[in-house]
Amino acid sequence: MKHCEMQALVLASGFTEVGALSKNALRFYPEVRAMCAQNTCRAYGKTWACPPGVGTLEECRERMLQYDTVLLFSLKCELEDSYDYEGMMAGRLAFKAATDRLNEAVRGHLSRYLLLGNESCERCETCTYPDAPCRFPELLRHSLESYGLVVSELAEAAGVIYYHGEATVTYFGALLF
Ligand code: SF4
Repeated sequence: MKHCEMQALVLASGFTEVGALSKNALRFYPEVRAMCAQNTCRAYGKTWACPPGVGTLEECRERMLQYDTVLLFSLKCELEDSYDYEGMMAGRLAFKAATDRLNEAVRGHLSRYLLLGNESCERCETCTYPDAPCRFPELLRHSLESYGLVVSELAEAAGVIYYHGEATVTYFGALLF
């Protein structure tokens, strides 16, 4: 499937923007993983979607670099104001739902791909981490940040808007194939 056709599938899944970047533009920063470990988002060590459950930085790098094409996609969500926590949570779930739609759309076209998403995983009421494997490995989306990636850097390389202004939040994911 061609690049532009895959980008059309991304937009049809409900995302706001999509752009391609070279895998040579990917930079894997230990500092980003160190920020995850500070656990300000309270997702560190809680699910298989975040560190350390995603594997080492080197394992994440190798996982991504198996693929030739990287599409970065985003979902812009409107908030009532910059403190609209409920709006942020709703946007986060809307992003996850759109990522599931994208997964359904691409799996008939691609034999191998990697889909990365936003933070944490709320698919199950209680995550199996770390005592047992993920219940739904085919639906598991590691977060971009957990791979040590700086999302603003990816957005610039892909020509995707990183910040849409006040009272908005934008979530990002990537499709590699
Ligand atoms: S799908 Fe379930 S078991 Fe797997 S990471 Fe998400 S919450 Fe945990």
